[in-house]
Amino acid sequence: MAKHALSVTRDEDFAQWYQAVIAEADLAEESGVRGCMVIRPWGYGIWERIQRLLDDRIKETGHDNCYFPIFIPLSNFEKEAEHVDGFAKEMAVVTHHRLVQDESGKLVPDPEAKLEEPLVVRPTSETVIGNAFARWIQSWRDLPVLINQWANVVRWEMRTRMFLRTSEFLWQEGHTAHATEEEAREETLRMLEVYRSFAEECVAMPVIAGEKPENERFPGADATWSIEAMMQDGKALQAGTSHFLGRTFAQAQNIKFQNRDGQFEHAWTTSWGMSTRMIGGMIMTHGDDDGLCVPPRIAPQQIIIVPLLRGGPEDEQIKRYCNELWYELRKQTAFGEPLRVWMDTREVKPVTKRWGWVKKGAPIVIEVGGRDVAGGNVSVVRRDRLYREDGKLDSVAVPRGELLGKAKAILESMQTRMLLGARERMEASISRSITDFDKLADYFDKNGKYPGWVEVQWSRPTGAALDKVVERLKAHKLTFRNVPLNAKPADGACIFTGEPAVERILVARAY
Ligand code: AMP
Repeated sequence: MAKHALSVTRDEDFAQWYQAVIAEADLAEESGVRGCMVIRPWGYGIWERIQRLLDDRIKETGHDNCYFPIFIPLSNFEKEAEHVDGFAKEMAVVTHHRLVQDESGKLVPDPEAKLEEPLVVRPTSETVIGNAFARWIQSWRDLPVLINQWANVVRWEMRTRMFLRTSEFLWQEGHTAHATEEEAREETLRMLEVYRSFAEECVAMPVIAGEKPENERFPGADATWSIEAMMQDGKALQAGTSHFLGRTFAQAQNIKFQNRDGQFEHAWTTSWGMSTRMIGGMIMTHGDDDGLCVPPRIAPQQIIIVPLLRGGPEDEQIKRYCNELWYELRKQTAFGEPLRVWMDTREVKPVTKRWGWVKKGAPIVIEVGGRDVAGGNVSVVRRDRLYREDGKLDSVAVPRGELLGKAKAILESMQTRMLLGARERMEASISRSITDFDKLADYFDKNGKYPGWVEVQWSRPTGAALDKVVERLKAHKLTFRNVPLNAKPADGACIFTGEPAVERILVARAY
């Protein structure tokens, strides 16, 4: 068996493997402030690709970008009790606007500079954007309002993990207001579908879209939908959410409009978000024991050219050959965009460069040495097929012209293969045949390391009855994920209550 590039494998310790990928791929590092990370250029480059492709889809569905302040007056939150309840425990609050030195020379907040009203660092912007909606919306003619913002938010999370759950994270948050309930519900599902197709088509991450049960709703929402992705350890990751907010926020913030009959009504609102957590999902969907594997559509660079320079006379020729190759490749396209190609001319040993790019997950690495130049070839390493059957690194020399002709097809098929491979894995790890609670608990307790998901039938209990069910699941470290939109109708008994089931819901261990 070949030796792998990371010091820890997925099978040995998935959590440590995850940290190792992030470190070895130069994605991010701890900042020294709990739960806040430094996102390094390769990691930020992936985020920029995610932003760009998702932003296109947000705009194609009629939304405009805008920007709201990072500080929200505390009183804004008090208007909606459930919302404040949900977020109060994790809000960072600014109380002073100046520092002074105390007697010992230490910098402390100036008691003279205490803010009259504390400012909350936004954990999400429903309250401040709702205020603006109340000003912007007067008549049915002003509706719908469809906006989005790209921003950072802060939630003082107790247990943090790079990308997956950080105290500060980057995201987009969409906020919309509509004249009718039907339109707002349609919008909620439209954006859920944008998230589903984006995750699958761009991140090659298969997901299940569905409605969250009542206990998992966004604070103040009437309904929350999510996309859930399965990580390679069989756990679930909520990768994006879309909320139908009903009239709750409109009532709290007085978002009113005059309808066609001249009467005043409250608007219907929605919100939806996807964050840097997506990068964590990509790592745990596609990474392997050699590091990261970035789907070509979101790779900051898709092809890396590594000239194998030896400090000899043929170096000049190799550089010229590589430059021409770079130039030719950049004229080509894949996925309707120019290829992103980089030449690595650092004075570093070639083998270090090769494994560096493998660990970073660059889709294609092209190595060019003196022999390649002489033969008109290039040596190609594909990140999705690193090894041959005999366990040796699969680096094949192909004529330069052949590579130029095939680069687009390789990248596009790699993207598809990554999605299909991950989807096959997910489908094979969802059990749909468990019909009693003890067997469900057993299934997870015995499946240990790679639990997978179970889809069960349930009667959709609410309130205290639901709380009881959630507690029973919690005892086995299990959670509800969602009620898949495309699940089969129920035809049996509820696994929790024994009553006739009304729908099917996914149960899983989750991040
Ligand atoms: P929410 O506003 O709570 O619905 O969050 C929107 C999306 O942001 C969620 O679906 C998550 O994917 C993501 N998210 C929530 N909390 C965090 C966090 N602490 N770190 C990273 N991403 C998060």
